Amino acid sequence: MSVIPIRALPDPILKQKAKRVRVIDSSIKKLIENMRETMHATGGVGLAAPQIGVPLRVIVIGIPDEEDIALINPEVVRRKGERLVSEGCLSVPGYFGEIKRAESVTVKGLDPNGKEIRIKANELLAEALEHEIDHLNGVLYIDHLESMDKLRKIEPEEVQF
Ligand SMILES: [Zn+2]
Repeated sequence: MSVIPIRALPDPILKQKAKRVRVIDSSIKKLIENMRETMHATGGVGLAAPQIGVPLRVIVIGIPDEEDIALINPEVVRRKGERLVSEGCLSVPGYFGEIKRAESVTVKGLDPNGKEIRIKANELLAEALEHEIDHLNGVLYIDHLESMDKLRKIEPEEVQF
């Protein structure tokens, strides 16, 4: 396992649509392990494969005090409600901003064993799922800002994905 450097803006990989995983082989399992280690080493609550330079549809999420989640080819199948969150991203270092996210989401995808799973989430997990799936579509939270002057310098306690 290794900690991989996080890609930050203006790296073009962050604006690309990631490719679907066709076969879950040992390289995908190794990718997930590296992503988990990198996420924990950087203090992030989630990480998408493009953030470590791999343009594949794989995400990991590590909510404090909960078991890590790894999802392959995840998709949001349902969004409910709307709320304001303040969000930061490891790939946009030094800033955070207030954007709108769903109150709850339903996401489907494959677990690392290839089994289809569905997750119904709210609060931090819902935000993390939307944030990471956005990454797979080349979308950053700053794309949801009403304007760039809504960005603020990050505070140390701010959550980043
Ligand atoms: Zn991010």
